[in-house]
Amino acid sequence: MASNVYRNGTGSHKGATRPLAASNSSNVKSTSFKSRIPPSNHSPGSAPLRRSNSAGGSDGVPGRVRVAVRLRPRNAEESVADADFADCVELQPELKRLKLRKNNWDSETYEFDEVLTEFASQKRVYEVVAKPVVESVLDGYNGTVMAYGQTGTGKTFTLGRLGEEDTSARGIMVRSMEEILANVSPETDSVSVSYLQLYMESIQDLLDPANDNISIVEDPKTGDVSLPGATHVEVRDERDFMELLRTGEAHRIAANTKLNTESSRSHAILMVHVKRSVLGAEDVIPSETDKSSHFAKPPKPLVRKSKLVLVDLAGSERVHKSGSEGHMLEEAKSINLSLSALGKCINALAENSAHVPVRDSKLTRLLRDSFGGTARTSLIVTIGPSPRHRGETTSTILFGQRAMKVENMLRIKEEFDYKSLSRKLEIHLDKLIAENERQQKVFDDEVERINLEALNRVSEVERNFAGALEKERLKCQMEYMESVKKLEEKMIENQQKHGCDGFMQDKCNGEGPGSSIVEDVAEVKKLLEKEIHMRKEAQEEVNKLKSQLGQCPDSGEGGGSEILKLQKALADEVRQKKKLEEEMIILRSQMLQLTFEADQMRRCLGRNGSANAYGGLDSPMSQVRGSLNGHKTPVAALFEQVGLQKILALLESEDANVRIHAVKVVANLAAEEANQERIVEAGGLTSLLVLLRSYEDENIRRVVAGAIANLAMNETNQELIMIQGGINLLSVTASRAEDPQTLRMVAGAIANLCGNDKLQTKLRSEGGIKALLGMARCGQPDVLSQVARGIANFAKCESRASTNGIKSGRSVLIDDGALPWIVQNANNDSSPIRRHIELALCHLAQHEVNAKDMISGGALWELVRISRDCSREDIRSLARRTLNLSPIFRAEMRRLRIEV
Ligand code: ADP
Ligand code: MG
Repeated sequence: MASNVYRNGTGSHKGATRPLAASNSSNVKSTSFKSRIPPSNHSPGSAPLRRSNSAGGSDGVPGRVRVAVRLRPRNAEESVADADFADCVELQPELKRLKLRKNNWDSETYEFDEVLTEFASQKRVYEVVAKPVVESVLDGYNGTVMAYGQTGTGKTFTLGRLGEEDTSARGIMVRSMEEILANVSPETDSVSVSYLQLYMESIQDLLDPANDNISIVEDPKTGDVSLPGATHVEVRDERDFMELLRTGEAHRIAANTKLNTESSRSHAILMVHVKRSVLGAEDVIPSETDKSSHFAKPPKPLVRKSKLVLVDLAGSERVHKSGSEGHMLEEAKSINLSLSALGKCINALAENSAHVPVRDSKLTRLLRDSFGGTARTSLIVTIGPSPRHRGETTSTILFGQRAMKVENMLRIKEEFDYKSLSRKLEIHLDKLIAENERQQKVFDDEVERINLEALNRVSEVERNFAGALEKERLKCQMEYMESVKKLEEKMIENQQKHGCDGFMQDKCNGEGPGSSIVEDVAEVKKLLEKEIHMRKEAQEEVNKLKSQLGQCPDSGEGGGSEILKLQKALADEVRQKKKLEEEMIILRSQMLQLTFEADQMRRCLGRNGSANAYGGLDSPMSQVRGSLNGHKTPVAALFEQVGLQKILALLESEDANVRIHAVKVVANLAAEEANQERIVEAGGLTSLLVLLRSYEDENIRRVVAGAIANLAMNETNQELIMIQGGINLLSVTASRAEDPQTLRMVAGAIANLCGNDKLQTKLRSEGGIKALLGMARCGQPDVLSQVARGIANFAKCESRASTNGIKSGRSVLIDDGALPWIVQNANNDSSPIRRHIELALCHLAQHEVNAKDMISGGALWELVRISRDCSREDIRSLARRTLNLSPIFRAEMRRLRIEV
């Protein structure tokens, strides 16, 4: 027997590792009990279930079953019956020892966790036996408080007294409940109670006596035992609970026995289910004001479910001693079935036996967590003092001793509270949704405000800018007009002062070549500088606008249209800027023009104003070119400054004024051989031809024709002019022209083309010859001179072709009816005309095929005159030689008796 170890207190502590001190500690996580039997020593197959379903998954804390012994005072009957005998036990509470007297001279000593004398108050009993268990239950552990003992020793007194008449008499059930209710929170926690009795191996619901066969259900996974059929009553306050206990008590079957008429033979089981919500520190839900943590880790609420089981066992006395009869005997057997099964289980656990017969009775099945399980368990064994019951008392003490060896493994049952988590998340989500809606509204308002502000700013900038631009434009126009007016006035003044003839001499200034023109140039330069300054300002304004646009916050969809508007405004600005640039180029070209004119004037003055600027024989622009050669630097500088491309671009300007200036500049530039190639390369020729084709304006046509005439001095350009339909354009221009200057330019251009051997056929087929002859109608000497030059050039080429055998047959000039005009003007007063025609006649006369026509057209007389009177010796002898070489001419001369 295990109790032998403690017998007589001798050597009883040797080898015992169990500390004797009781622990009043309420901290269930640090127990003062040391495990005597390591959990691993239990065989997995037979050891009571070690549950591990706690959410934390932490290992349990070892917790031995604590056992206290309580001695009932002598009752009235004992006081009489045992008056002459001493009590069978002697208590040493300070040593936590109990001496069991065997006889007057022999006793056995036992140690318990607590030894409670007959004077121990109910309060002290509660604090020593039950309070640590209740506190564990509040912390989430399961707990058991069980009273074991012979009938009449005070089990019900200890556990179940209600203490209605005397509150100090309240038993463990009432006090436990008080403590639980005082510590739970009604908002988050819940407490419910089942009250059952186990009687003759059937479980009856004391809260619903009709329900008398409740079955035990075990979770196969966790081994958890539950009674789903039992009534669970939620308890909110002490009153509820007292009412509940009273109801249960009323239903409790109490069978009388000989030993104590009040004692019960059933096992009464009160189950208190505690459910508490707990939150880890890191899982605190963000407060409403803490907006920054909206997206923090969601809270992780946990729920701890624990169960306090209070068991008031039926009397432990042996059946033969109960004196029961009839069915009462059966009853006693059944009562003792559960009790003896409990005893066997505790023995097995105490001895670390391989097999624990938990399943032998309903009581052991119900208490499987209390002994060898995860619960904190306190057992109170009650004994009476009477020596007459020494046997029962001994067996009770030994039961207690064995129970002290049972080691439990305490574990918290904690699980995620998904319901509460979901509820909390829902609330949190709703809060976030509301907050989001609020913020969205604020955002929308802000976007609207920004849109409005942007709109206002854009329109304000537009207004300001349009105003400023218009002002600038007007100012420029005024200044431009002013300067033009001034220039014109000066020109008239000069004209009046000198009365010079001709286009160039009109501009001559008797005061000297420099002063007035220099002033003009200086003025234009000043204007130009002003323009440049204004352009800079406009550019700055544009940049400012751009940066303002850049600063405008992105205002969503509304902003898109704003940006479009601004872009439009910007495009307008760019257009305005282009216009300003054009105006600048015009001014520059005017300056260029003026520089040319100044050059001309200097030349005029240099030649005492006698030269005719455009009267050159070879080219209408020869004078200009000549002047250019003398003063190349300032012109070249201006040319470089403006840029050829820009000037050519201006040829297509919508402004007629600009166009004509541009053409003039191009014409002047084309007069210089060095520029011709560049102009053609840059597409200048094509542009000029386009102008000729598309503009009726004779001013433009005149200047364009002049430019083409200059370009037509170059053989390559002549071909290009032809290829691009230039001859036809020039013919049309000639036919419509009224101004002799226009005709002079066109005739000059065609005359240049006439000197190209390769172009003979095309020139004729495209009506060039006819156009040339047609221009003679105006009778203006300058024009006639160009016509004559053209005919001479053509005749020369034709003659060359005939000599080389490329051409045969009569002269095209004769075919096209040029002969009468040639004959008519052969003796023209103007020497340039006369000379060109004389040469033409000589060329024609060199070919016999033309002779007959020439004779009939009267050309022979002119040839004879040339051979006699021409001032130029070379032409005179050419004519003579030609006449003598031609048999037809000679025959005709013989017939007419003419000698050369
Ligand atoms: P059990 O439930 O073990 O059969 P009870 O609790 O019914 O025993 O007690 C039997 C009698 O003894 C009752 O009258 C009870 O009041 C009395 N009694 C039991 N324990 C004590 C005690 N510690 N002090 C005073 N009276 C007691
Ligand atoms: Mg009782």
